[in-house]
Amino acid sequence: MKKVIGIDLGGTSIYGGIINEKGEISKRASVESGGQEGREVVINRLIKIIKELMEGESVQAIGLGSPGYINVKEGKVLSIGGNITGWAHTDIKGELRKHFKDIPIFVENDANVAIVCEEWIGAAKGLNPVIMITLGTGVGGGIYSKTSGIWYGKNYEGGELGHMILYPKGRKCNCGQKGCAEEYISGRAVENIYYELTGRKIKGKYIFENSRTDKICEKIIIEFAENLGLYLINLKNIFDPEGIIIGGGVINSKEYWWDEAIKFYKENCNNPGDIKILPAKFSNDAGMIGAAKVALDNI
Ligand SMILES: [Zn+2]
Repeated sequence: MKKVIGIDLGGTSIYGGIINEKGEISKRASVESGGQEGREVVINRLIKIIKELMEGESVQAIGLGSPGYINVKEGKVLSIGGNITGWAHTDIKGELRKHFKDIPIFVENDANVAIVCEEWIGAAKGLNPVIMITLGTGVGGGIYSKTSGIWYGKNYEGGELGHMILYPKGRKCNCGQKGCAEEYISGRAVENIYYELTGRKIKGKYIFENSRTDKICEKIIIEFAENLGLYLINLKNIFDPEGIIIGGGVINSKEYWWDEAIKFYKENCNNPGDIKILPAKFSNDAGMIGAAKVALDNI
C-alpha cells in the first residue's frame, strides 16, 4: 500500500503524519510553527518535521496544507498568507524541493485539505455539494462538489469564506477589510473581544469554558454563537449545500456554543431546510489526512 507524508501547517503548530491509502496514520510528529516569527523559521520547521517523519520510512510523496491563497499548480502562496507573518508570496514547493529532491510535493490550501479529508472518510462523506468551515486562529472555508471537486475560482482566491463580510464597517480584519466573519467567529476573535472588554489576555479555550460561570465570557460566547448562526444562514442561501461541516480547533469547545448557533440558524433563516450541519470527524487530524489524500490522488 502506498504511504505519503501529510502536513498540516497552521499559524501556531505544524502537525505531520505518515498516512496510507486507507487514511490510517502510522507515525506522527508535531512542532510549533513559529508563525509569528516569519517565513524562514516556518520553512526550517517544516523541513525538520518532514525529515523526522521520513527517517527509516519509505514514502511516495509529500502533501501539505497551508494557510493563505495557494496556487496549487506551482505550490506557491499568493498575495494573502493567512496567519503566518510574511507568508504571502512564499514558494513553499521550491523551498522544500531544495531539501527533498526526488519526491513529489503537493501544496493545497489548509481549509481545502480539511474538506478533502472529511469528504474522503469523515463527516462530509456522501454529501454533495458540501461546504466546510474551519474555526481556528482564523476562519477557513472549502467548497466541494462531486462533479467539479474543490472550488478554486479564477485565481485560486475562491472559497475564502472567512472573509465574507458579516458586519459592514465592522471589526478590522488582518486581510484589510472590515467586518469579516473571521473577526467574529474565530478563536482569535473571541480572545480579542475578551481583551477589549477586560484588558486581560487569556486563551479562547478558557473563555468558552468559563461561559457558564463568568458573565463577560457568557456574553461573548452567546454573541459568538449567534454570529455563527447568522453566518450559516448566509452559507445556506449562497450555496444551498447538502451539508455544512464545521471543523477547526474551536470545535473542541462545541458544547458551549453548538446548540445556540443551530437554534439561531433555524429561527432566523428564511428556509432552514434539512441541510446537515455537522461537526468535523477529524478535527485535529483533518489537515494532515487531507494533505496526504491530495498527494495520494496526484501520484
Ligand atoms: Zn478578512
